[in-house]
Amino acid sequence: WAKSDGRDRSAVFDHHRHAQAVGRYRLSAQMPRALEEEQFFLDYQPLVDLNDGAPAGVEALVRWQHPELGLLGPDRFVEMAEQSGLIVRLGQWVLREACAQADRWRREHPDWHPLISVNLSPRQVAEPGLVADLRRILDETDMDPGALQLELTESALMATKGEPLAVLHRLADLGVRIAIDDFGTGYSNLAYLSNLPIHALKLAGPFVSALRRPAGPSAADIEILATVVRLAHTLKLTVTAEEVETAAQASLLAGLDCDLAQGWHFGAPGPARHINRLLAVK
Ligand code: C2E
Ligand code: MG
Ligand code: MG
Ligand code: MG
Repeated sequence: WAKSDGRDRSAVFDHHRHAQAVGRYRLSAQMPRALEEEQFFLDYQPLVDLNDGAPAGVEALVRWQHPELGLLGPDRFVEMAEQSGLIVRLGQWVLREACAQADRWRREHPDWHPLISVNLSPRQVAEPGLVADLRRILDETDMDPGALQLELTESALMATKGEPLAVLHRLADLGVRIAIDDFGTGYSNLAYLSNLPIHALKLAGPFVSALRRPAGPSAADIEILATVVRLAHTLKLTVTAEEVETAAQASLLAGLDCDLAQGWHFGAPGPARHINRLLAVK
């Protein structure tokens, strides 16, 4: 028999876990309605050209303005939507909304040709209808496919059930760009990636945060980054650094010939009008 205090403690623990599970379940159950009632919206974070500091595009990031819980970030609900399958409809909405915003920018800033980067989850990539849906969205929003970038993590690639190549080729055939998101956090290597129809790598936060150690980056940190960028360029991939938080990181990355960067140093994710302001300053 367990001692009673031990039992009490585990009862408290179970209660907490139970409450969490109920909370998750409720949130998950609320998502379809939230989608209908347009509680989701997109923030945009600038992607900046490291050569001249100009805004080269944006990454669209989904948020949920929950009527009771307030603002929820994707870490609170994307995985949940992935499990329930709602991510397929939510993901379609994200794609359509991002392409519609691109159209608004096209009208407001005719000489700005931004890259619009959108995250795809594993479930979306595994969905047989993805390519047809995307073709329809491109059509309806009059979107230039070459200006749309789809970000897939390595795990999203693996989720294509042994046929990542087929799906990627069909996507690439639409003319959209494909980027590997959070590169460096998974297991794939550049040799493997060289066989895939991809266009860009996004260097994960840890690569970039190595550049801001208190004592300064080590020679090894810099050499690793330089090597990844060089190899990526050999494979004709554009390299974007994520989570660039300081001017020092930005100039190191520019010196390593990294192409694009995003992060708090250049601008946090925010509403589309923040991007307009950025363009007005330019
Ligand atoms: P991600 O695609 O790697 O997006 C970058 C994340 O880094 C964003 O978090 C962004 O707010 C954050 N970030 C930007 N600058 C900095 C910085 O300087 N420092 C640090 N530490 N972080 C920075 P967020 O918006 O919370 O999104 C988290 C993840 O949720 C995304 O990671 C992406 O995997 C997923 N996600 C976001 N929107 C969507 C979507 O529409 N669909 C899907 N399937 N996933 C999404
Ligand atoms: Mg991303
Ligand atoms: Mg990322
Ligand atoms: Mg350069």
